[in-house]
Amino acid sequence: MEEIQNMYAHMGIDSEIYAYGEAVLKTLAGRFRQIDEIAEYNQLKVINAMQKCQVSEACLLGTSGYGYNDLGRDTLEAVYAKIFHTEDALVRPQITCGTHALALALMSNLRPGDELLSPVGKPYDTLEEVIGIRPSKGSLAEYGISYRQVDLLADGSFDYDAIRAAIGERTRLVTIQRSKGYQTRPTFSVGQIGELIAFVKGIKPDLICMVDNCYGEFVETAEPGDVGADMVVGSLIKNPGGGLAPIGGYIAGRKACVENAAYRLTSPGLGKEVGASLGILKDFYQGLFLAPTVTASALKGAIFAANLYEGLGYAVVPDGSESRHDIIQAVTFGTPEAVIAFCQGIQAAAPVDSHVTPEGWDMPGYDSQVIMAAGAFVSGSSIELSADAPIKPPYAVYFQGGLTWQHAKFGILKSLQSLVNRGLLDKNSLKL
Ligand SMILES: *Cc1c(COP(=O)(O)O)cnc(C)c1O
Repeated sequence: MEEIQNMYAHMGIDSEIYAYGEAVLKTLAGRFRQIDEIAEYNQLKVINAMQKCQVSEACLLGTSGYGYNDLGRDTLEAVYAKIFHTEDALVRPQITCGTHALALALMSNLRPGDELLSPVGKPYDTLEEVIGIRPSKGSLAEYGISYRQVDLLADGSFDYDAIRAAIGERTRLVTIQRSKGYQTRPTFSVGQIGELIAFVKGIKPDLICMVDNCYGEFVETAEPGDVGADMVVGSLIKNPGGGLAPIGGYIAGRKACVENAAYRLTSPGLGKEVGASLGILKDFYQGLFLAPTVTASALKGAIFAANLYEGLGYAVVPDGSESRHDIIQAVTFGTPEAVIAFCQGIQAAAPVDSHVTPEGWDMPGYDSQVIMAAGAFVSGSSIELSADAPIKPPYAVYFQGGLTWQHAKFGILKSLQSLVNRGLLDKNSLKL
């Protein structure tokens, strides 16, 4: 439609870039249809859980003070447990972020002398300090909890022999990160996670298997709770918050595990009984309701970006045609200039703070400078269109989010425009 192209031109997108984007998009109709089907299934899953748990108008109100008998909070936790097919869940605004949720799950379910095992290689950067891989105050290591890691094989698959050898008498908890995070390994499907859980439990049945589910929620029709995970953990300013939750994290899992986490979050003796929800529950419910379609929008953006940049010869993970198990798209640019240009393009497409220019900074929890493009309604929210990159080789950008597919598309075109504007790419070379 000419009107749309004129609007893009008005928003700073050259006709060559628009045309290239449209050519890429033409090849993606089948993929987009599949994503819409998954969203349709998950939308029904969420509605079903809300209906079965009898979410009522009163649930949208909040409590203050101690938060005893918080109907909305307790019902929301039942809804999460139903969606993730677990016995129980802890879903709280007092859980400040994903790292906090994961730290809580680990610290509450491990005891001095226990060993934690990651059979999927290095965990997400911020978990290094939680575990004590990088020394930190209050880490698991300080409490006498040791850590062992088995790296993935060169092809990204599980090293079953080494995993078997690593499980010992002290091994208590196995942490499995679903998403690649800041790495270029593949993200695991729920099916693969299920195989790994079955394998480790075959060796030692009483192991607690925790899945870091960040960025994975609602990407498939199944969740890790469907394949034997004892705890499924994530952030509400990623997929399950649907862009509306302004804070929060969740731990869905076996009753005993969730109970331990609740006693750690509040206090022994108090557990889940306290923790006022204040006025936040409507956003938690409404965000969860929107989460399947918001996740689908983000997924479309990731696939569009993969195909657009793959067509230009950049290395992308996952590649343009691979099946998807999270919403993150990595693009390796190889130079800091291109990484910065990409992020600045994403920022320039934002509804908030589009006039500011992101630069690298020393972010707490990370061991190199990180550049982040956001411009989000919720600060730092990465279900909203965002990009971040540690400024170190191989100079890869991690791109994710988009509350609407239309915004994700605009942001990706802007990123390409930004590379062209800085002379890092010749717009006359753009063709599929
Ligand atoms: C985002 C993320 C985390 C940490 O979540 P924060 O909310 O940023 O603390 C942990 N693991 C993975 C895989 C993530 O993507």
